[in-house]
Amino acid sequence: MDDLGAGRHLVRDGCLPGSVLRVPPHSAQPHARPPRPSPCGSPYTSDREQVISMKLQQPGDASTMPVPYITAYSGETDPSPLVFTKNHLGALRLAYEHQRDDDRRLGVLRARAGQSREGRPVWGSPNARRQWDCMEKLLCQVCGCPATDDRSGKVPWLVTDDVFRRTGIDYGQTATPPTCLDCMPLALSLCPHLRDAPAVYMVGKATPVSVQAHVYTPAGDGYAAFTGEHNVELPLSGSDLLSYAVAHRLVVSMSEITPIWRVQ
Ligand SMILES: [Zn+2]
Repeated sequence: MDDLGAGRHLVRDGCLPGSVLRVPPHSAQPHARPPRPSPCGSPYTSDREQVISMKLQQPGDASTMPVPYITAYSGETDPSPLVFTKNHLGALRLAYEHQRDDDRRLGVLRARAGQSREGRPVWGSPNARRQWDCMEKLLCQVCGCPATDDRSGKVPWLVTDDVFRRTGIDYGQTATPPTCLDCMPLALSLCPHLRDAPAVYMVGKATPVSVQAHVYTPAGDGYAAFTGEHNVELPLSGSDLLSYAVAHRLVVSMSEITPIWRVQ
């Protein structure tokens, strides 16, 4: 769980139990699509009576629980050392000691993370690269497939108030990736915190706006020393601190958002 701005938490990657989702009649879709196989095998319930009730899975043994696409594994930790280099203007810039082309994205140094899925799931900790991919490519954080709803062309986003910052009447920001409609029940069954008044928004556009990053300072030996400032939110443009930071999560600004339900 991470702070964003004035105490707002925009990311929480959790784990367990179940509840029942109910979609209010006014928000149900008039032309509900038929059930279709989910590539991630998640449960899916369609609605013909304008009320959807999705019975969610009960908690089980952690060793048998499905692991969301975004969840980090213990074997994916990347200990590559960080150093300070100088850019073409001679200004200091944080970098990995042995640089790679995919280290920087949107002008930001991104935290490296393996993609082996080896070791044990680290519940509560998103894999930094998969989180970034989900946000930029609008992939479902549970199954890793494109999250966009075929029928509406919009992206479903499952959030709670503490991971969603409203910035306008139909605008908001979050570091929590989308969840496809097929995976909604599974997401709620895996994440107990989502039982705290979760809401689903259908989102028209999502644009990267900032990152949550750890801040470093030059050390005497040429390497970088962690300042202790972690998950500091930095805008993608106009922040001098970006040169001293490694981003662990991408934050997007969502527009054309429409709430479609809350759990009753
Ligand atoms: Zn999914």
